[in-house]
Amino acid sequence: MGDSILKDVNDFCEKLRPTEDVCYLEHRYNDQTIPLARESNVLGLPVPKEFGGRDADNFTYIKALERIGMEGSGIRSFFSVHSSLGQKLLMRFGTDNQKEKYLKPSTKGQIILAFALTEPDAGSNPLELKTSFRKDGDSYVLNGTKYLITNAGIADTIIVFAKNASNDMSAFLVDTDREGVEREDLVSKMGTPTTNTGMFELTDYRVPQENILGKEGDGWSIAKQGLIDGRMSVAAGCVGSIKDCLIEAVQYSKERVQYGKPIAKHQLVQEHIASIKVHLSASRMMVRRATMLKDKWDKDPDDRAKRRKADLAVAEAKLFCANAAYDAADRAVQILGGRGWSFLYRPGRHLVDNRVCRIYEGADEILKLKIASGVLGDEYRAYS
Ligand SMILES: Cc1cc2nc3c(=O)[nH]c(=O)nc-3n(C[C@H](O)[C@H](O)[C@H](O)COP(=O)(O)OP(=O)(O)OC[C@H]3O[C@@H](n4cnc5c(N)ncnc54)[C@H](O)[C@@H]3O)c2cc1C
Repeated sequence: MGDSILKDVNDFCEKLRPTEDVCYLEHRYNDQTIPLARESNVLGLPVPKEFGGRDADNFTYIKALERIGMEGSGIRSFFSVHSSLGQKLLMRFGTDNQKEKYLKPSTKGQIILAFALTEPDAGSNPLELKTSFRKDGDSYVLNGTKYLITNAGIADTIIVFAKNASNDMSAFLVDTDREGVEREDLVSKMGTPTTNTGMFELTDYRVPQENILGKEGDGWSIAKQGLIDGRMSVAAGCVGSIKDCLIEAVQYSKERVQYGKPIAKHQLVQEHIASIKVHLSASRMMVRRATMLKDKWDKDPDDRAKRRKADLAVAEAKLFCANAAYDAADRAVQILGGRGWSFLYRPGRHLVDNRVCRIYEGADEILKLKIASGVLGDEYRAYS
């Protein structure tokens, strides 16, 4: 089963690459991503078969994200929010009706999902978010602004986090075709041009009562669980990106001749190749370890010790892989010399796109603090 999933993911990636190349150079959204993903049936990889998904186990899903990561962190980001955050949260917290109404169609691309925690004044510390909700009859009324949200401009349904007057956070399924949502794309992005990032404003937006995800007040717990899967997907995607950088660097260094021989025969070029390879092996091992611990927790979701181990292993993997992927891309650019400093070649795109992996889903600094307090004990947490 895993093999057929990975074959379909590979077919999707191969079909996507030509349009991805053109869209990246033209710095525009790739509108072929969803149709091609639908054609290859890869829009519901971790979702059980009864809801139309492919039922990929954790290890197969991680390999799929690794393969998608070879196409770039932008394309992988689309899958991170649609599947790792959106679908997995619906699988874990959705009611039967929500699964029928949102999860099932999402596996066929009839519904595209997004996850909106960040706001203009609440990034690293989402507890400072200001989006508000209040109960009014049999619906909730939401007001606020969400910022830097992947898929915001293309999503049909967004998981939105908001607080009530008592400061309790809840999560809501917000349909973007209803009155009270204003969306705007982020156009001046440094990288990932082929995927959508945007902001939106909710003004007296009415959410029917049945669209609360989980229980009222469970929002922060839901967000944190989502972020574990989100970070896992970033780490796995980075492994793919490093692999692609290695392929590009090896091929180019064998073809390019300077000082009478292929540059691959110059020892300082070999040093770059060796470093990229070590980054690849180490990152892959960290992701496998994190996946193993995550898998144990998934099978025993109420076990707090398993959750803590998985959470920390995923944070370590995300921190390590994001930095390794950035360094690998930098080295691959160096091997390509002047040509490397161009979006015509893939390493330059990886360099720019991998940079954001050190910012979203827990910036480097936040993950370091999390890992350190995991070692030292909660009383040594550097932030409140
Ligand atoms: C392309 C892109 C896509 C994104 N997609 C999503 C999405 O789909 N959904 C979503 O909810 N969010 C998304 N985000 C938002 C992302 O998660 C935030 O940008 C991230 O959490 C950092 O928040 P911030 O940008 O407000 O930076 P800030 O929180 O303002 O941080 C700025 C700097 O200060 C550092 N810093 C902050 N606090 C501390 C501290 N206590 N100690 C040490 N250093 C600290 C940070 O590490 C960082 O280096 C996306 C962002 C980008 C760029």
